[in-house]
Amino acid sequence: MIKDHCPVCFEKEFILIDTFLKWEKESEIRNKYVTLRDVSKKANIELTSKIFYQCSNCKLIFIYPFITDQELSEFYTSYIGNEAYFKKVDKKLKRATRRIKGLMNKIKANNFLEIGCNVGTAVEAARRLGLNSAGIEIDSEAVTIAKKEYPKCKFISTSAEEYSKHGEKYDLVFCTEVIEHVPNPNEFVEALYNLVAPGGLLFMTTPDAGHLRRTKIFIHWNEVKPPEHIFWYNKNSLKQLLQNKGFNRIDYRLNLKPGIKLLAFK
Ligand SMILES: [Zn+2]
Repeated sequence: MIKDHCPVCFEKEFILIDTFLKWEKESEIRNKYVTLRDVSKKANIELTSKIFYQCSNCKLIFIYPFITDQELSEFYTSYIGNEAYFKKVDKKLKRATRRIKGLMNKIKANNFLEIGCNVGTAVEAARRLGLNSAGIEIDSEAVTIAKKEYPKCKFISTSAEEYSKHGEKYDLVFCTEVIEHVPNPNEFVEALYNLVAPGGLLFMTTPDAGHLRRTKIFIHWNEVKPPEHIFWYNKNSLKQLLQNKGFNRIDYRLNLKPGIKLLAFK
């Protein structure tokens, strides 16, 4: 029997979607995943008995038993990201510039914060647009690179939860492809809310499990890669989570691909 409840809507009834083992057998990214599985073993995350469940009410999908903070931090300590940080940096800079410009038309912004800024490309784009610009990132190696590459921006190796305790507020907060990795969505979104200045806005992206173009069979979707991704939101579950924490207006950007792009106003 499951004793937990959905972290978004507190529903206790879950629908079984599939098992981790079946995902591992059928996933197209399983080859890439071999090393991740080794890392999970090293970090002591038992994945083989885990199950993909969906909340019967808000349709949030998650891997269960829930992965803990402790497990995840061990996982990322053992995990050496092979991501080419500066791959397509010009393209990323252009995209970030376009996005930030669009958001600056919505509100009056003086400063910018990116949560999970990686090597700082979007933070630099915001600075070039005239904003006082900062980024936080838990991967300290990425922060070292960011500081060296973009010395005019501020970078700190910390979590949103920690950083929000200092009381700093930002007009524009950027959080792209992060929340699907976060084990405590309630604490995380509360921190985001506290980091947004009154009258400011949060821009967020994450894979969209409710999108018409998502693979029909969930475990065949290339966004299913536990324990990196652990929650798969749809527009409604994410909206509910944001509203629970105080954001009043939520706007979506059209996306033809299975991804949510939203603006949350404070
Ligand atoms: Zn729910």
